[in-house]
Amino acid sequence: SLAVRGLSMAYGEHEVLKDVDLTVRPGSVTCVIGPSGSGKSTLLRCLNRLVEVKGGDILLDGDSILGMKPEKLRRRIGMVFQQFNLFPDHTALENVALSLTRIKRMNKDAADRVAKARLAEVGLAGRQHHRPSRLSGGQQQRVAIARALAMEPEVILFDEVTSALDPELVKGVLTLMADLGRRGMTMVIVTHEMGFARRVADQVVFMDEGRVVEAGSPEAIFDRPQSERLKRFLAEVL
Ligand code: ATP
Ligand code: MG
Repeated sequence: SLAVRGLSMAYGEHEVLKDVDLTVRPGSVTCVIGPSGSGKSTLLRCLNRLVEVKGGDILLDGDSILGMKPEKLRRRIGMVFQQFNLFPDHTALENVALSLTRIKRMNKDAADRVAKARLAEVGLAGRQHHRPSRLSGGQQQRVAIARALAMEPEVILFDEVTSALDPELVKGVLTLMADLGRRGMTMVIVTHEMGFARRVADQVVFMDEGRVVEAGSPEAIFDRPQSERLKRFLAEVL
């Protein structure tokens, strides 16, 4: 499991995460919701060590990730971003295979085999030789998801991966993520899609001003919110 204990983080003087606790069970889907600026992306960046934490600890199966070598961490925790972050000069297949040869040190043939299988899984078997510029936003996001899956991480983090997509492409990507969840992938998903969070999450975490204000089942969070802050937030977004 992934366990966040008393996590704090600051950009200079600006405290962005304050005493955050969170437990993610293996095979579960956690959706993180909250207003803009509440620290959701920063939390994911801490989980993947894209930023340095100030205090507290993050444990992956009992091992602190804070002292872990970046290469090892990249293998164990995957991340998918709003802006895809694909290499523009490489095909879909190369984008997936490159992290396998670089980070997992697979040979090229093995990497290509795994990459093809993962691309097929996300519905892109026919697009493997296309560069990102010749793929739709939804297809590019599927390549990014295939790339994360190919590493066989213990957890995948998703930061608003549908926010940059045209509305008609959102549903397909959400359906893919829901399928991954059903198949037991452990995921932490920052999302503005409240319907998705309600349907797919095992646990919903509401953040405000750098703190976890409430966490619980979708029913507890959406049907029986306790705090005024969550009630106000839901009134605005639902
Ligand atoms: P959104 O829903 O808009 O994506 P968020 O919940 O993901 O918001 P964060 O991006 O984690 O929020 O930002 C939390 C706070 O940290 C905000 O006040 C933001 O201005 C600040 N912040 C984020 N990135 C940086 C940075 N690189 N340097 C300084 N401050 C930052
Ligand atoms: Mg964000």
